[in-house]
Amino acid sequence: MKKIAILGSTGSIGTQTLEIISEHKDKFQAEVLTANNNIDLLAEQANKFNPNVVVIANEDRYHELVDKIDNPDIKVYAGSKAIADVVSMSTVDIVLTAMVGFSGLEPTIGAIKAKKPIALANKETLVVAGDLITRLAAENSVPILPVDSEHSAIFQCLTGEWNNKIEKIYLTASGGPFRGYSEQMLKGVTKEDALKHPNWDMGSKITIDSATMMNKGLEAIEAKWLFNLAPEQIEIIVHPQSIVHSIVQFEDGSMKAQMGLPDMRVPIQYSLTYPDRFKSSFKRFNFLDYPTLSFHKPDQEVFKCIKLAYYAMQKGGNMPCIMNAANEIAVEAFLNEEIKFTDIPELIGNSMDNIQFIQKPDLEDYIKTDKETREYTKKKIS
Ligand code: MN
Repeated sequence: MKKIAILGSTGSIGTQTLEIISEHKDKFQAEVLTANNNIDLLAEQANKFNPNVVVIANEDRYHELVDKIDNPDIKVYAGSKAIADVVSMSTVDIVLTAMVGFSGLEPTIGAIKAKKPIALANKETLVVAGDLITRLAAENSVPILPVDSEHSAIFQCLTGEWNNKIEKIYLTASGGPFRGYSEQMLKGVTKEDALKHPNWDMGSKITIDSATMMNKGLEAIEAKWLFNLAPEQIEIIVHPQSIVHSIVQFEDGSMKAQMGLPDMRVPIQYSLTYPDRFKSSFKRFNFLDYPTLSFHKPDQEVFKCIKLAYYAMQKGGNMPCIMNAANEIAVEAFLNEEIKFTDIPELIGNSMDNIQFIQKPDLEDYIKTDKETREYTKKKIS
């Protein structure tokens, strides 16, 4: 029995993780569930899965949550400090990090220090502080198992190839709802347009990131840290059908790809069962439904976030942290209809030009950079 702490259990990845636990009740147990604000769903999940502990990040909602939980044996805590603490409980076997954005950083550090394997869905953790996280993971001999579908694909292609050098990886991208748009066309898009992702049903932050293609930029940085690659070894390729989830090219020129229908439950489950594969009931891919798989280069002049992300990756230090914080604020402002879609890369670029660059940041520097960038970007919006 593997006991799982799910950080962010009420989000898209969290709820799908619980579906997997339901399918394999003999193998998995939800030990810890945490959420930011959604007490109704968190209580419903607690009543169904009977975890040992639940935590709500928003302390103001603690009493409401307690009232909704039926089983008095379930321990209920509140606050982000509690989230960082519960991951180190001795009964936790693996920590699945599925919260949104920068908030994933400190609990992930706590889990690594407690020597818990990490199933990493919160890509921002590696974007912001990949250097620190990979170093800590190595020091504590903690595996970081990717949940992101592209990185899971690469990880699956690398199984049995650990001694073979990677020449290059191709990160596939659906291209999002605005694939093929010109810069002019992007100026007029609405929040509703941006939230309609063609292939994946995800949370709103990542859906907007997919529309700007910042998601792929974040994933390039995530891949750099997970697989120890140079920026030149990471190529983004648009693949509208989202069937090939990513590709590894080895030094003999041979390429391995991992394929399947776009279904996040596959990579989530693999992160929990690795190196095994469990039988699943998920729908199977049928070639005849997809007679054509196509691939093309992304237009970086239109999707400027890709350029910003490669610049941040090259520059290193706290630059990806600045980019991430500005992006989080800009996406939130776009979702609140305070800015235009095309303002998102403008705001991010502006913050990257103006926030103080630090070449060798420590954790305090990352926290400070994140805070400063958020304040700066907010000021530019208002
Ligand atoms: Mn992805």
